Amino acid sequence: MATLYIIATPIGNLEDLSFRALRILKEVDLILCEDTRVTKKLLSHYKISKPTISYHQHSKLTKIERILEQLKKDKNLALVSDAGTPCISDPGAKLIDYLVKEQPDLKIIPIPGPSALISALSISGFSADKFIFLGFPPAKKKRKKFFQEVSNMEKTVIFYESIHRIKKTLEELKNALENERRIVVCRELTKKFETVYRGDIEEIIEQINLLPKEEFKGEFVVIVEK
Ligand code: SAM
Repeated sequence: MATLYIIATPIGNLEDLSFRALRILKEVDLILCEDTRVTKKLLSHYKISKPTISYHQHSKLTKIERILEQLKKDKNLALVSDAGTPCISDPGAKLIDYLVKEQPDLKIIPIPGPSALISALSISGFSADKFIFLGFPPAKKKRKKFFQEVSNMEKTVIFYESIHRIKKTLEELKNALENERRIVVCRELTKKFETVYRGDIEEIIEQINLLPKEEFKGEFVVIVEK
């Protein structure tokens, strides 16, 4: 039985790929990608030419079975997502769960590396001995409950947000927060427009509203101090 490597890849800056990740990407027989077009940019940067196939959260059981077949044929596989660590608000867990049940002796090896939440937490200055990660706020229903949960939490809270909802999310967080909490919002970590906003919720909203329309882009991590 072969090995499935779960490989963390950069969250922006392509230099953030570990030597080990690079070596394994060069050695495996096949790379499972969330989006093959995104991963091909990374592979071509490092001059790696390997077969790739897409694997995402809607992949059917037949695809998962085909992946298992490859492993049974002794092919070593790598799983990567578009950015960061697979399975962290990204596809992968369903595949791993299936393989662990079907093939308990299969070797599944993590190749650690970047993750937006850990990168953001590491510069927050907030207590990180205990923290809670909530993924993305729900898109439609149960948003109020989500932000109330953040407000009630007695631990550092981290969540992800996209450009499409960041302003709405910060406004809703402001309405939910019952006492003054320090907040860090990290935008575009490791990329050209990397910006870290620090302050209370009103100050953060003010700073983000100051961004000119053409610069209002990016990916965000929000951290609320306990
Ligand atoms: N698996 C990834 C990880 O380990 O970080 C997370 C994938 S999740 C689909 C994508 C979200 O992560 C983005 O919407 C954003 O909230 C956050 N994110 C990813 N890259 C980021 C970056 N460079 N700067 C800030 N946030 C980022």
